[in-house]
Parts: sequence; structure tokens; C-alpha cells
Amino acid sequence: MSTPDTMHAAVLYGKEDVRLESVPVPAIGPGELLVRVRAALTCGTDVKVFRRGYHAKMIQPPALFGHEMSGDVVAIGYGVTRFAIGDRIVAANSAPCDECFFCRRGQPNLCEDLLFNNGAYAEFIRIPARIVEKNTYRLAGHLAYKDAALAEPLSCAVRGLDESFVRPGDTVAVMGLGPIGLMFVRLARFAYGARVIAMARRLEQVDRAVALGATEGIVIGRHDSLIEELKSETGGRGADVVIEAIGQPEAWELATRLVRKGGVINFFGGCPTGTKVAIDTGLLHYSEITCKASFHHTPAHIRRSLDLIAEGVVNASHMVNHEESLNQLPQVLSDLAHHRNGQIKTAIIP
Ligand SMILES: [Zn+2]
Ligand SMILES: [Zn+2]
Repeated sequence: MSTPDTMHAAVLYGKEDVRLESVPVPAIGPGELLVRVRAALTCGTDVKVFRRGYHAKMIQPPALFGHEMSGDVVAIGYGVTRFAIGDRIVAANSAPCDECFFCRRGQPNLCEDLLFNNGAYAEFIRIPARIVEKNTYRLAGHLAYKDAALAEPLSCAVRGLDESFVRPGDTVAVMGLGPIGLMFVRLARFAYGARVIAMARRLEQVDRAVALGATEGIVIGRHDSLIEELKSETGGRGADVVIEAIGQPEAWELATRLVRKGGVINFFGGCPTGTKVAIDTGLLHYSEITCKASFHHTPAHIRRSLDLIAEGVVNASHMVNHEESLNQLPQVLSDLAHHRNGQIKTAIIP
């Protein structure tokens, strides 16, 4: 099968500036793959990047854009033996070096030389050799492209729950019910056997979380009444684990008031750079609260999230509620950035 010389692709130029252009199909070198993209999912991070125009770690414009994808291998570089043309694959958006201080200590998500890949919003994407070798997987026969493409964001959530020491029967409060929040709800309930209290600002978000398996839902309104309501649901103590998936300083502060003595808070949602929070030191110390934050994923978590997707714990039907062509991407991102159109996550089918 021959590939064309040019392709349709989204290029990020800056703040709210993404253009569809005709660009050369990426050339591949030794160890690399060329993949025909079959599904690329929008992601909260992409929306943030669209609003701000860049991401310090992941992407600097002008650049090909998008990082949650699955597709078909259409060309293989010299030396590739694990994959063949025609394979249906999912490739993660990064791979660690396995050699630095952090990799050797079992924290490859903090790798000093984490290699990122972008360019999923395109007809074809090049997968760099390191990602081919360490973080690319063939899809199980029945797995749909848009389900498999969830592996990357889901792996961040799986890691977040692992790091928060969730035990069966625990009460997990999830703050924020965007796609990641919904993944936390599904995982905490069905993979970790927890009772889940789902919280968000809009009633429709809470209702959706309850429909997807949250044990209870609370609309975030006045903080005092929210704290009271959560405590009354937890024997007056507060939640065993609080997952903050909103990414705003006020929400981080609120999280500290929702957790029980000896409980764990995971500040999962990244706040705007330079923001600060004030935390009651007495509360932290005398209540022995563990504060965690989770960033990114590891190859092991990508593999586990693919298993969880195959088992149906999380799949596209739970949160991918729109499907659009590549041409619609700028509009889709703008709608997501301004909360129009009720989109949670959109599958772009190039
Ligand atoms: Zn993502
Ligand atoms: Zn490393």
C-alpha cells in the first residue's frame, strides 16, 4: 500500500489558533512507525493548550497537535520487528528513557528525558522509535479504535488512584466531572470497589456521574453546605480519599475540608502556573492528612488501562459523546473551551 506525499493535519499556532493545513506526510526513520489515524480524542489538556497557546512540557507552537489516538500501521522503519503493516495499534503520547535517576527509582512518569509525541489530529502520525519500543500496543481483536484511544488519559487516572491507596469499601469523593472525573468515578467504583461521591458545579454533570455508577452525587454550591452534606454522608468524618479533578486553587482548598482524619487528598487537577493555595497547618498536622499529586502515566499504567478498557470498566460510550471530522476540529476545540454544545470528549475521525 502506498501512502500519499501530503496529508490533512491540524497545526497549533498559538492561543485559540489551530489551522487545518496540507502538510507533508511524516517521513519515518529506523525503529519508527507511520500510522493512519482512525480515532483521535479531544482531551482537557488539549483544550487548555488551545486556550493558552502552548504547554511548557508537551508542546510548543507551531506544531502538529493532538495526543490520544489509535490507528493502523501503514509503514514500518528499518529494524521494527514487533509490528507489521496492517496492525491496529494504540501508541501512548510519551515514553521514558529508563536510564535517568527517576526512571531507575521507579518513577518513569517524572523521567528527566520524557519523550512526547503530538500530531494525532492528522491523517497520519509518526511514532518515534522510543515510543514504538516501550509504549505502543496492538489492539485486542474486538477493541474499537475510539475505546483504545482512551488508554492515555485513563492511565493517568489509574495511577492517581493507585497512588491514593484506595481500598475496597472506601468512600472516594471525586471533585470535577469532566472526562477525567468520570474516569475516576468508573474506576473507583468498578475497579477499586469503592463507594463514590461525585461532585461538580452543574447538576447535569452530577446526574451523568450517578448514571455511570457514582453512589451519590452532590452539586458544588456554597462550600459550607457542601462540607456539611459530605460529612453527613460519611458518618460525620469526611471522605477516605478526595480526588480533586477541577484544577483550581479554591477547589484544592475545598478538598482539604472534605477529607477525613488520616485520609488522602490527590490534587490531580493542575492549576494555572503561579497560583497558590492556603492550607490550615493545624488541620494538615493534627488530622494527619496525606496530600498527593499525580502527574502523567507510566508504560505499566498504559497496559493496565488497556485491560480495563477491554473489560468495559471504562469505554468510549461513557464519555465520548460527539464524533466529528478533522475539518471541524477548530470549532470543536472552541466549543469545548467555552463549554458550548454539551461535549464531554469528541472523537475526531480523520
Ligand atoms: Zn490527554
Ligand atoms: Zn528517564
